[in-house]
Amino acid sequence: MFTVNAIAAPSATEPLVRTTIERRDLGPHDVLIEIRYAGICHSDIHTVRGDWGSVPYPLTVGHEIVGRITEVGADVTRHAVGDRAGVGCMVNSCRECENCRTGNEQYCLKGNTQTYAGVDRDGTVTQGGYSTHVVVNEDFVLRVPESIPYEAAAPMLCAGITTYSPLAHWNAGPGKKVAVVGLGGLGHMAVKIAAAMGAEVTVLSQTLSKKDDGLRFGAEHYHATKDPATFEVLKNSFDLIINTVSAPIDMASYLGLLRLDGTLVSVGAPPEPLPVPVFALFGNRRSFAGSSIGSIAETQEMLDFCAERGIAPEVEVIGAEAVNDAYERVLASDVRYRFVIDIDTLH
Ligand code: NAP
Ligand code: ZN
Ligand code: ZN
Repeated sequence: MFTVNAIAAPSATEPLVRTTIERRDLGPHDVLIEIRYAGICHSDIHTVRGDWGSVPYPLTVGHEIVGRITEVGADVTRHAVGDRAGVGCMVNSCRECENCRTGNEQYCLKGNTQTYAGVDRDGTVTQGGYSTHVVVNEDFVLRVPESIPYEAAAPMLCAGITTYSPLAHWNAGPGKKVAVVGLGGLGHMAVKIAAAMGAEVTVLSQTLSKKDDGLRFGAEHYHATKDPATFEVLKNSFDLIINTVSAPIDMASYLGLLRLDGTLVSVGAPPEPLPVPVFALFGNRRSFAGSSIGSIAETQEMLDFCAERGIAPEVEVIGAEAVNDAYERVLASDVRYRFVIDIDTLH
């Protein structure tokens, strides 16, 4: 074991503080990554505040990690010292279940090993990317193309893949009308990726305050959800709705926006249930679905797709001392559009 600098939550109610955490010594299939940037996902906030249930404290979160590989285990073949590397929301899985064997390890039937607050294969609690170094099994490490700006690459490891995966699965593309609900970290990536896939994209945001940005990201239409007329004007319109909202939404209103055989996919993960009136599904044979991150292969595909098309998140780089303020701004929907911690400020 070795000790590294980190930021951790002491409890669900206290601010995050600077501290140190332990990393395991490199196993034969592990790589050591010197972290350069770590994105702040709303899931980090849900987790440390106990929204989704109890977690072990002190806890270091962060699952949008990029850096350089500085050491590799004896049997590592997929990565080399000096490579630009990324780590997302999971760091291992059982590799034997039906879902793992079919390349859907994010849906591992024994539960994938989450990057933080998970129990690793060696029995220790995993600690995330708000730290200077991380040790990860080589199979769960991504190659980050050199053409993606370093700091912008970090949010792709969660916000990027979590939106790319359902857009690809439900065939966003030419001729498809896609709506994105919530223009935050996930939402702005959903707009960029869906537009790059060729879909006609509409943003559904609480107000019109970010309209210019939404159109610049590739949306053709932009509507305020605080305006009840929006739900009349857009009735029966969309093939696919990607809901990225971190709080509950009124399901009947949003389902009513789907056209025949349309699907509303929630990636937003509010702590409360989202009650679905079944009659809202009967009309237009609508579906309500969920989606969780993406597989490692699909994450690599997303990174390469974004690199080829010059797509990257819009980020606000902050120092370690600004993390608690950034949390408050995310909670107030005042994020443009992802906070990324400069890990050099932790050394
Ligand atoms: P975020 O940056 O805070 O974006 C969420 C957006 O939702 C806000 O910017 C805001 O957009 C809108 N919003 C927030 N509160 C709202 C409310 N009360 N009513 C209506 N709209 C509201 O968060 P994020 O990092 O993108 O994450 C979004 C959600 O996805 C979180 O719940 C997170 O845990 C979840 N998530 C899930 C997965 C997965 O695998 N399924 C992966 C990552 C994250 P406007 O200002 O435009 O309205
Ligand atoms: Zn996340
Ligand atoms: Zn499995």
